[in-house]
Amino acid sequence: MTVEAPAKINLRLAVGPVRADGYHEVLTVYFAVGIRDRLRASAADDLTVEVVGRQAELVPVDSSNLAVRAARLLAERAGVRAGAHLRIDKRIPVAGGMAGGSADAAAALVACDRLWNLNLGRDALIELGAELGSDVPFAVHGGVALGSGRGERLDPLPTRHVFDWVLVPAEGGLSTPAVYAECDRIREETGWEPVPPRVEEELIGALERGDAAALGRALANDLQPAALRLNPALEATLRTGRELGALGALVSGSGPTCAFLAADGAHAAALCKGFAEAGHTAIHGTGPAPGPRVVDDGRYP
Ligand code: ATP
Repeated sequence: MTVEAPAKINLRLAVGPVRADGYHEVLTVYFAVGIRDRLRASAADDLTVEVVGRQAELVPVDSSNLAVRAARLLAERAGVRAGAHLRIDKRIPVAGGMAGGSADAAAALVACDRLWNLNLGRDALIELGAELGSDVPFAVHGGVALGSGRGERLDPLPTRHVFDWVLVPAEGGLSTPAVYAECDRIREETGWEPVPPRVEEELIGALERGDAAALGRALANDLQPAALRLNPALEATLRTGRELGALGALVSGSGPTCAFLAADGAHAAALCKGFAEAGHTAIHGTGPAPGPRVVDDGRYP
């Protein structure tokens, strides 16, 4: 059973105060973008994982791998005794703020649900996903959605439009908890008054209308100042994208991947070329992308 699952960008990431459970209250517009990890689940007695592809050496191959944790949770809840061998082909930057681990967890839930003939359905898998991580429910959902709580509560945001993005991964990753901690430090230094997180109407309207120029202007990420302080080189990456004519530029999630909005496919190709000339790797991705998709159900050898 082979499943492909897309990465995400946060078009808006509004970070509120810290809750009693230690998580920050967030309001975010999740957008699934067509850069995909591929996960193959095959029948086995135990639960094992191997990882190949981009930055595979940075991904754990023990029980801490998010895909393994997802398969284990599904087996426990469904009372399954069978195991699975998971083979992950990474294409999503690791620790890049694009929820690659969450994509693999979502792919594992969908693949093992089919491999073990459980047919639990998307809603049940989304609920299980919330136990694995804040971004996992959206990784199962795909498309565009408003995330609230710590990001796990979803309300779909329908849009009939396709947007072109250029993603520029950075050297090294950023740890999500470290970026939140830096955000708290900056807020303490600047005397931030706690306010509930909110998403501006301009962004929702631009998404609905398919207005890429307005969407580009509305992109915003409350974690960006913290990510820039931890990795100051990202400032230059964002500037390069703006100078090349991107409609919008921001750090994706907790970073360090930077996301640039293009007007269309040709504009995205031109941005990629400009980034390559400036010495950066750039990846073109379109979205909203559907959630995890079975690309091979193993029935035909
Ligand atoms: P988010 O945006 O959700 O915070 P991220 O994109 O910044 O996530 P991930 O690529 O999901 O980061 O990886 C975060 C860490 O999780 C990695 O440093 C890695 O050690 C660990 N990890 C566990 N399982 C996986 C997996 N299947 N793929 C990638 N990383 C994984």
